[in-house]
Amino acid sequence: MSRLSASGRAWVFLALGLTAAIVAGLEFRAMHEPEPITAGPGVARMRALSDYAAWMKGSPGDTPVYVFEGREPGGTMLLLGGTHPQEISGLMAAVLAIENVTVAKGRLIVIPQANRSGFTHTEPLEGFPHTFEIDTPQGRRWFRLGMRLANPIHQWPDPDLHVHAASGEVMVGLESRNLNRNHPGQAEGRFTARVAAAILAVLKAEGADLTLDLHEAYPEYPIINMIVAHERAFEIATLATMSLQARKIPMDLMASPKNLHGLSHREFGDHSSTFALLSETANPGMGRFRGRTDEALVVEGQDANYVRASGLKRLFVPFSEKGHPLADRVARNMATIEELLAAHNEANTGREIVLEGLPDYDAVRLKGLGHFLKPIL
Ligand SMILES: [Zn+2]
Repeated sequence: MSRLSASGRAWVFLALGLTAAIVAGLEFRAMHEPEPITAGPGVARMRALSDYAAWMKGSPGDTPVYVFEGREPGGTMLLLGGTHPQEISGLMAAVLAIENVTVAKGRLIVIPQANRSGFTHTEPLEGFPHTFEIDTPQGRRWFRLGMRLANPIHQWPDPDLHVHAASGEVMVGLESRNLNRNHPGQAEGRFTARVAAAILAVLKAEGADLTLDLHEAYPEYPIINMIVAHERAFEIATLATMSLQARKIPMDLMASPKNLHGLSHREFGDHSSTFALLSETANPGMGRFRGRTDEALVVEGQDANYVRASGLKRLFVPFSEKGHPLADRVARNMATIEELLAAHNEANTGREIVLEGLPDYDAVRLKGLGHFLKPIL
């Protein structure tokens, strides 16, 4: 048997190392390719953050803004998905709205990937899949999973402490890349603060009466299946919560704490006239108790560890074998949007927002997300 010389072995190792680096590099770069989203019949025009905020021109944080115009005048709703990209029921609810909704009265603005940079990477050392797929009658659709924070290639290094500019509140350094700790943002600030300022620019330019920022949290976190409302939005949120509970969709309500800064439900409400709201569904794919982290967990939301943790009363939501499938969580977002709008319309005559074609709670749960995803154009 022939034996390689030392330099021969070195070349083999070098070649293996380069191959691994190239494969990993291509995989990493693939996450910068955006998933296709089909603008449905209600979308009047597609814009970008940079159309509202010149400082976003050419920035990797620039992201599409879908504008719907109603047949009759009324109020305006701003819907944000993907503030935290791995909280995927927000992205998917936004996509279902973009692909299905028409507006009878008022206007709807949807930003499905508020933190576009966060869609280009996953959390290090957590073994997350980069993408997940949904079956539709026309074939499979794919979406990125992403991470809570902006990609460090777009904002680096993290400071030891993140000082929230508008309030002076001090947080742990990595929160400087957390969009939901950077509102109302700074046009001249660091990358994430600039994105936050651009989103507030959209909110103001479009005159949003009502803003909903869609989030998810892990089942062992207390703020879950919950609407968090700025004090001016509390009445709307209370009515919506009661309506959801009457429909046997358990939902709780929390007031936005006045001394916690950088969060959308606090800063949008303080820095504009919008009714600022945030909602949370339960995502086992993000939790610390989770077992194998694969696409099945992400989409089907079932995990034996969580069933066990539920038995030990460690969770803030019930958790059976059925788990919390993505379709159920998106259905919950649909019902939350529906009931918030109903509550808003009741109290704001002349500023009503009436959506048609918003996928129904029961239909999304029964038929699945694929039924409401359109063919790629
Ligand atoms: Zn979140």
